[in-house]
Amino acid sequence: MCWIRPSPIRWIRSVTDVVDQHPAYINLDSGIASIPKIRPMVAVVTRSLETDYLVVGAGAMGMAFTDALIDHADVHVTLVDRRHATGGHWLDAYPFVQLHQASMFYGVASTVLGTGTVQLTGPEMGLQQRARVSEIRAYYDNILNHRFLGSGRVAFLGGSEYRADGSSHLVRSLVSGETVQVKVRRRVVDATYLSPTIPATSPAPFQVAVDVHIAPINELANLTTTPSSYVIVGSGKTATDAIIWLLGNGVPPDRIMWVRPRDPWMLNRATVQPDPEVALGMSADIMTAASSAESLDDLFVRLEAANVMFRIDRDVIPTMAKTPTLGAWELELLRTIENVVRLGHIKHVTRREIVLDRGSVPLPPGSLVVHCAASGLKYPPMVPMWSPDKIQLQVIRVGFPCFNAALTGYVEATRDDDRERNRLCPPNVYPDTLTSWARMQVRGTVAARTFGAEPDIAAWANRCALNPSRIEPSRRDAPAVLAAARRLADRAAPGLTRLAELAGEPLSVRS
Ligand SMILES: Cc1cc2nc3c(=O)[nH]c(=O)nc-3n(C[C@H](O)[C@H](O)[C@H](O)COP(=O)(O)OP(=O)(O)OC[C@H]3O[C@@H](n4cnc5c(N)ncnc54)[C@H](O)[C@@H]3O)c2cc1C
Repeated sequence: MCWIRPSPIRWIRSVTDVVDQHPAYINLDSGIASIPKIRPMVAVVTRSLETDYLVVGAGAMGMAFTDALIDHADVHVTLVDRRHATGGHWLDAYPFVQLHQASMFYGVASTVLGTGTVQLTGPEMGLQQRARVSEIRAYYDNILNHRFLGSGRVAFLGGSEYRADGSSHLVRSLVSGETVQVKVRRRVVDATYLSPTIPATSPAPFQVAVDVHIAPINELANLTTTPSSYVIVGSGKTATDAIIWLLGNGVPPDRIMWVRPRDPWMLNRATVQPDPEVALGMSADIMTAASSAESLDDLFVRLEAANVMFRIDRDVIPTMAKTPTLGAWELELLRTIENVVRLGHIKHVTRREIVLDRGSVPLPPGSLVVHCAASGLKYPPMVPMWSPDKIQLQVIRVGFPCFNAALTGYVEATRDDDRERNRLCPPNVYPDTLTSWARMQVRGTVAARTFGAEPDIAAWANRCALNPSRIEPSRRDAPAVLAAARRLADRAAPGLTRLAELAGEPLSVRS
């Protein structure tokens, strides 16, 4: 360690990069001092620890799994994350991001995120609250420090990188360099497999000349000079968040150019609410639309007519279906952007032009290119969740990663046989295209029937606030809920059969 203590005559003016420069130096008032370069420490195992479960990744999925596991099994868990705290990608998220869906559906099973109430004012009055990033971070911090560490059954190794070395499990502190060998009595749990890619931590997927101003979406909140115009690059939720935030901060629509390689289908937020009448009604709408759909495009247009799906431009048939939720008020704002570039993906940007797959457009002078083009959701191959040495967390039912990870924790705690566990929890895909969206519906519906047929799982799931299909006992006999359930029962068989045909997915889902 080297400590530079400013005396009255020696103040630091600048420091060269101690990793890349040789020799690295500190420029002081009274001269230059050289400092040692950072050299990664050689990993030497200095101690070992034992645990039942080593959960790698303390994001939403690792947290939800751990929470459900320790609630139903008397075990010890060691959580590891290369980030310093729990919460995963939310620790690097842009400061104005909110959950796109209800807080109730997010977090861990034991503790509701937020107040579980509806918004009383604003454009989403009557819809459930959606947590902001600050609330999400505080929530996960609280779960770690009070529930997990307080139980004495969970240890957290933050700022630490996990690495398998043959059959050894090594965790190296990125701060001290200390490497710990972890003896795992039961399982390693990989909670990183679906970890999203975000602009703050991944470079833009195109080349940019040095004299072009480009920044990830996070930097919109840190501007020191005002760009004359903004070029928003991306088709998904991050891009829509950037535009809505800019418009909300008084940027007129004609100062925004939107490079939208694909047009997205998005779910109407009002149809994704913790309310059984709404949830059953939405499932019934999907099955009704599917049962008469001539094609996948026709299915989505029917869902739009049923007010389940939104598209921004009514003259374009979207090809993207990651389907985050969108408020009707946000849709109206997005429709005010007229300068939409649909020439494919960007290849490179120079000070004068943006060159894309199918042409180029001028880059307005003084523009800031806003990188919203990370893929977000990940699409690795589906693999069996349980294998002899590992649990590979994935989604099971349609969407809702937190519920799926909690379900996996519950099934791990309450079943003995991996074949049975894999039967109950077959992996599913995240949606990207219309085909993978239909595939997710088929696999998720079949899986929900399979795990829902187990009385204890059904009872647990119906108590779990993360579960979007939950029906509170007090609402079970409400006439509107019964009517929606009847409508779903009526259309489920033909709808699912047609969805399976459209997706090319067999109706018997295997793990
Ligand atoms: C902006 C945004 C908004 C979203 N909003 C919602 C929403 O409203 N509702 C919803 O259901 N989903 C939402 N999602 C989807 C998202 O997939 C889930 O929110 C969820 O957070 C993903 O959690 P995760 O645990 O899979 O990944 P992460 O949060 O990325 O956690 C994985 C962790 O693993 C760590 N890690 C990886 N490799 C190693 C290693 N070798 N050693 C140590 N640590 C490692 C990483 O540091 C990371 O912290 C959103 C996604 C984004 C990007």
